Amino acid sequence: MQEKKKTDIVEKIVSLAKRRGFVFQSSEIYGGLNGCWDYGPLGVELLKNIKEEWWKFMTYREDVEGLDASILMHPKVWEASGHVENFSDPMIDCKQCKSRFRLDILVESINAKKKKKYLQDFSSKIESKEYIERIQSLKEDEDEINTVFNTLLEDENYNKSLLAEINCPQCGNKGTFTEARQFNLMFKTFIGPLEDTSAVVYLRPETAQGIFVNFLNVQGSSRQKLPFGIAQIGKAFRNEINTKNFLFRTREFEQMEMQYFVKPDAAQNWFDYWKTERLEWFKNLGMTTTKLRYHDHEKLAHYADAATDIEYEFPFGWGEIEGIHNRTNYDLSRHEQFSSKSLKYFDEETKEKYVPFIIETSAGASRSFMAFFVDAYFEEEVNGEVRTVLKFHPKLAPIKAAILPLVNKDGMPEIARKIEADLRKNFKVFYDDKGAIGRRYRRQDEVGTPFCITIDTQTIEDNTVTVRERDTMIQDRIAIDQLKNYLLTKILG
Ligand code: ATP
Repeated sequence: MQEKKKTDIVEKIVSLAKRRGFVFQSSEIYGGLNGCWDYGPLGVELLKNIKEEWWKFMTYREDVEGLDASILMHPKVWEASGHVENFSDPMIDCKQCKSRFRLDILVESINAKKKKKYLQDFSSKIESKEYIERIQSLKEDEDEINTVFNTLLEDENYNKSLLAEINCPQCGNKGTFTEARQFNLMFKTFIGPLEDTSAVVYLRPETAQGIFVNFLNVQGSSRQKLPFGIAQIGKAFRNEINTKNFLFRTREFEQMEMQYFVKPDAAQNWFDYWKTERLEWFKNLGMTTTKLRYHDHEKLAHYADAATDIEYEFPFGWGEIEGIHNRTNYDLSRHEQFSSKSLKYFDEETKEKYVPFIIETSAGASRSFMAFFVDAYFEEEVNGEVRTVLKFHPKLAPIKAAILPLVNKDGMPEIARKIEADLRKNFKVFYDDKGAIGRRYRRQDEVGTPFCITIDTQTIEDNTVTVRERDTMIQDRIAIDQLKNYLLTKILG
C-alpha cells in the first residue's frame, strides 16, 4: 500500500469529491459562497450513513431519547447560554493585504522558534524588567515559550507591541495588523416583518440549547429517570472568520450532539464512560486508530468542569472532530434563571430535587465526513497502474454493491437487471454495463463501493455470480439466491 502524500491529499480529495458527486461548492455558477458546500448524490449518501450510524449507536439504547428542535429559538436562549456575550473570536486584519485572521489560530500556527524570536525583538522595545528577564531566560522549552507569548498577548499593555513584531502570514509584512477585535459568530436575522431589535433571532450556532430547554418535556413524556440522555442531529451556523480546509471549518454545518443528564456526584464517571464510547465509535467505523487521539483541555470554557477533544490527524495536522464536556449544572441553571421556570429534577429514590449535571458529546457530522473521507483515501499500485480507492467501512459506503453484466448479450443483462431489482429493495446499488470490466471496477473503487457483482457465462449455467471485494480484490463465487444474505453479513459484520 502506498503511503499517502500529505501535501496534496486535500487537493486530490476536493477534486475527487467534485468529479464523482460527493461535494460541490455552494452556488458555484455565481463564483461560490465562502464556507458553504453542497453534498451531491454520493456525498448525501455518505453523510446520511454517518448520521444514521451515530443515531443507532447513540439512541438505540434504553437511556437515550431523540429530539429534533427548531433552528430558530427564543432570543433569550442565547442570552442565557452566554452566546450573545461570549460567542466571539478575536479577529485581526492585515492593513496591507486586507487578509483577516482569527488571532488564536494565527498564534497557534507560529512555531516556538519564531515565537521566541518575536519575543526577543519585542523585549528590546519595552521597559518592564519582569518581562525582559522572563524573555531573556527562555530556553528551548516550547510550553514555556507559548506561556510567555500568550500571557503577553492577553496583557492589554503589551499585546499591541507584540502584534507589531509578527509578520503577516499572507503578505509577509510586519507591523501591519490592526488591534484584535471581538467578533460574534452568530448569524442574526429578524422574525416577522419588522427589522428592529425586538425582532432579532439567531440561526443556532449549536444544537445543544434546543436539548437543554426541552429537558423536562422529554424527561416527563418519556418517563426517563436519571441518568439519561437526549440526542439530536441538526444544522448549526457560525460566521467563522476563516473558513478553510474544505469541510473542516464551514459556516453552515451539521452537528450530532447528545446531552447526558446525571446526578452531580456521578458526572466524572459518566464523562469517562462517554469519552471511551465515542472514540470506539470512530474506530468501529474503520477510522485508523493511530490517527485518533484525545486532547484533554487544561484551559476550560466558562461552563465546563472537564473537557476533552477527540482529534483526527488530518493532512494539515491534528484537528478536533468531537468535543466531550462535563458542563456541570451551568446550562440548566442559566435557563432557570433567565426563564424563571424550574428545571430541577425530582429524584424519587432520594426524594431530593436538584439541577442535574450534563455530560455532552458534540461531534460535527460534516467534519466527521471529512475525516472519514481523508482516512479512506488510498492510491495503490495494481499491475503497474495506480488505482484510487476509498476504503470506506461498508456501513458508510454510499453504494453498497455494483451490478455488472460482463457483456451486453447472451442473457446477461436480463439476469443482471433482475439481481439489481431484488437487491435494490434493501441496498443502495448501482448498475453499470459500460466499458471494460476492469475500468468498471476502478470506477467503483474510486467511490468506495465495497462489492462488485459480475454476471458472466458461468452465471447462465449455474446461477452463480462473482463478488469482488474492494480492498482485497478477491473474488468469491456466490449463488444468486444467497446474494442478499452474503451482503447483509458482510456489511453488518
Ligand atoms: P473549533 O475550536 O474547531 O472552532 P469548537 O471547539 O468551537 O471547534 P464545538 O463548539 O465544541 O467546536 O463544536 C462541536 C463540534 O462541531 C466540533 O468538534 C466540530 O466537529 C463541529 N464544528 C464546530 N465548528 C465547526 C465548523 N465551523 N465547521 C464544521 N464543523 C464544526
